[in-house]
Amino acid sequence: MRIRKAKIVATLGPASHRIEQIEDLIQAGLDVVRVNMSHGTHQDHQQLIANVRQASVNLKREVGILADLQGPKIRVSKLSQPLKLKKNEKWIICFEGHTLSQTDLSHPVIPTTYENLVADARVGATVLFDDGVMGAKVIEKRDQFIVIEVTEGGVLKSNKGINLPDIDVSAPSLTEKDEQDLYFALRQNVDFIALSFIRCADDIIKVKSLLHQLKVDCPIIAKIEKPEAVKNIDEIISKTDAIMVARGDMGVEVGNHLVPTIQKQIIKKCNESGIPVITATQMLESMITNSRPTRAEASDVANAIWDGTDALMLSAETASGDHPFKAVSVMSEIIEEAEKIPQERPALRTVQISSVTSANQIAAAIIAEKINAKAILSLTDKGNSCRHLARYRPRTTVYGVTSDLRTVRRMNLYWGITSYFFESSTDNSIQRDGEIIEQLQLEEKLKHSDKVVITHGDGKYFQKGTSNSIRVEIIKNEHQDASHQGDLQQVEVSQGKIILDNDLCASCQSCVSVCPVDIWKITDDQKHETYIDSKQAERCVFDMQCVSACPTGAIEVIKK
Ligand code: PEP
Repeated sequence: MRIRKAKIVATLGPASHRIEQIEDLIQAGLDVVRVNMSHGTHQDHQQLIANVRQASVNLKREVGILADLQGPKIRVSKLSQPLKLKKNEKWIICFEGHTLSQTDLSHPVIPTTYENLVADARVGATVLFDDGVMGAKVIEKRDQFIVIEVTEGGVLKSNKGINLPDIDVSAPSLTEKDEQDLYFALRQNVDFIALSFIRCADDIIKVKSLLHQLKVDCPIIAKIEKPEAVKNIDEIISKTDAIMVARGDMGVEVGNHLVPTIQKQIIKKCNESGIPVITATQMLESMITNSRPTRAEASDVANAIWDGTDALMLSAETASGDHPFKAVSVMSEIIEEAEKIPQERPALRTVQISSVTSANQIAAAIIAEKINAKAILSLTDKGNSCRHLARYRPRTTVYGVTSDLRTVRRMNLYWGITSYFFESSTDNSIQRDGEIIEQLQLEEKLKHSDKVVITHGDGKYFQKGTSNSIRVEIIKNEHQDASHQGDLQQVEVSQGKIILDNDLCASCQSCVSVCPVDIWKITDDQKHETYIDSKQAERCVFDMQCVSACPTGAIEVIKK
């Protein structure tokens, strides 16, 4: 039985694209696959997505697929050979589509894929290469090129990133390539689209409008990596479906020293708004080559969990590393250990309950804990109720029960939600709940005497998709009753016998309130369990009121 609450997103690539490799990763604990549209062709991606779906079918375990669009990432063009940049050297940077005259070629050239680099740049601005490993300053700006002076040298290879941290880049957040990749990803029925280098809420609204026109429902994940996005985080959170703290480019753009604080602040804001948040990049970086993480990496994973992240992401560790399976299983182990310290959650009085669904789901989480329920069955159409439930960080196991495969995959990103596909044969809600419970019993996820909390929408007084009902059930198997010894307390008195089956007791305290002679008591501890006070039992008047008041048949009173 799965106990991990936070989810794992893993990027697939050359080290993990075959069906058997993907099956291994799913078994190690992968929940959502990330397809990085910055690398590879549509043909490669199509094959990878088909392999993921096949691996899911083979293992009978669905995983979500996230297509991560490149966004306006500025890159070095393809080079015939790596370039050695030395401190204080001068270089020209020029768009790959321009040919410079012989007189302009006073310095060697770094070609770039970004056409507007010269227009956007200004003298004195910083230019960083390859995740900030190399740096330079702009010292001259001409019509067709800029001249830079290297401040930190190194070897520059083809396609490496270029960051301009103190320049407002004019490129649209959804480039032509992104648009092509978006249409492709939607045709492949991916479960999430991630947008890179967004700067404001408008960047999300534009893509959402496009999806609306196309009549496609696909959640958007906003990657926060630009200083402008950090500044506009509140309005971005209000428009997006999920957030990714993209620490790689963020570190280059704002400086690594600010990343931990920004990570904490963004996660907190997402938790408050009920928006899932993924913490990404270099979580287990050393495992690209090593079979064990460093202590610092293990701490980084655990700290992200304690910060409140809903999911953690692996990049090169699983895409091109030497130990993709180990990276996922080690991450899973660290998360499970970190989660032994219970998640802090919002004080109930401060939680903003903005809808019937969120109120209903939070109430279900509280009821489940108070009655020590084995599970919450949250019946959901689009996963909305489970997203609200996750926000309250329920300590009880939650099955997000749905008949929609897309919802199953989507909920794989939600903290503490185990997606559960179920197609009922009936519209009658009591019979349907019974069918689900029976199936969960067959799979040994529930058993006789377990208490379950069931939430669903009746679609009668509220629009479809609103969760407006909570029910508590105690699982009672008729065939088991005859032989079942269970957790019985029996007290013999001179006139007969009083029996309480604690397995069936709902701790509703109805017996306590009807008994005139205080036979029924509740334990003082957290569990609030009912018990028979054997000293008082002799005073029983055998009026059978407790038997009639007990809603679950847990009490038997036998008169001699
Ligand atoms: C990042 O920059 O941290 C990130 C996740 O984006 P990418 O891997 O696309 O650079």
